[in-house]
Amino acid sequence: MTVLVVGSLALDSVQTPFGQVDDVLGGAASYFSLAASTFTDVQLVGVIGADFPEQHLDLLGTRPIDLNGLQRIPNGKTFRWAGRYDYDLNVAHTLDTQLNVFAEFDPQLPDEYRSSEYVYLANILPSLQLNVLSQIRAPKFVGLDSMNFWIGNPDTKKDLTRVIERVTAVFMNDAEIRQYTGTYHLLQAARQILSIGPRVVLIKKGEHGAMAVSREGVFVIAAYPLEEVKDPTGAGDSFAGGVMGHLAETGDISWDGIRRAMAYGSVVASFTVEDFSVRRLVSLTRSELRDRLALLRQVTEFQTDLLPAS
Ligand code: AMP
Repeated sequence: MTVLVVGSLALDSVQTPFGQVDDVLGGAASYFSLAASTFTDVQLVGVIGADFPEQHLDLLGTRPIDLNGLQRIPNGKTFRWAGRYDYDLNVAHTLDTQLNVFAEFDPQLPDEYRSSEYVYLANILPSLQLNVLSQIRAPKFVGLDSMNFWIGNPDTKKDLTRVIERVTAVFMNDAEIRQYTGTYHLLQAARQILSIGPRVVLIKKGEHGAMAVSREGVFVIAAYPLEEVKDPTGAGDSFAGGVMGHLAETGDISWDGIRRAMAYGSVVASFTVEDFSVRRLVSLTRSELRDRLALLRQVTEFQTDLLPAS
């Protein structure tokens, strides 16, 4: 099964305590596609300007990522994001956002994309997410991400709520969930989102892993213990790419299937943050994934007997 993704393709400039890069390949859809393509074929819907380097397209083309849904605007400028992380790598400080070609984007899905069953609405204008979703004939599992940039504006927040009403899974980080709901307590906030329509809320918590909340239960997955992290950009999109890629590969969207997929999401994200941009993700192999999955399972397993009832 293929996964269709709509989201940003970007030229990012990023500073972390461990280095700095300018105008490198970024964007939620880039990270998601590369991560998901480890598991299954990806259809990418997005837009780039004339300044988008050919080598980035070549790089995406080395993986099973279909670029027929990618529009190139001859006189346009590619979306740009600049951000900084301090020693708390869980918090991204946006320095600059330039929507450029995304401000005018009107996605028209190629006919073969409209029968996609697995759809990921990566972080982008909520109205574009809605537009893409309305062109899909019979989606089976729709994931959604967003961020403070869209939640903080009353108009785009209203559109975001219309998207949330229609999706299966909301992937947001803890701060975004709190900001969207106005509720500090994450379980309560997640249940508030469930009441709008989704089956599951997947809360990303950076180096502390992720938590899923559904009507069937709560599940927590740890982050893979890394010796060194250089740049957390794209971790959330890579997590979602691992989850959705694995769901599409297995076709198992049950609660157990979602929990299994989260382990893959966590492990894929661990590769992304080891280097800047998508550098580490592009060379990721399934055997590397398997090794880290085995270690993650080993370090999170415990066999303590329960205390006897008194
Ligand atoms: P994350 O997985 O949350 O770290 O996503 C990082 C990516 O999101 C970066 O590569 C940015 O290009 C992209 N991004 C940042 N701000 C926005 C925005 N307002 N809309 C769409 N994409 C964005």
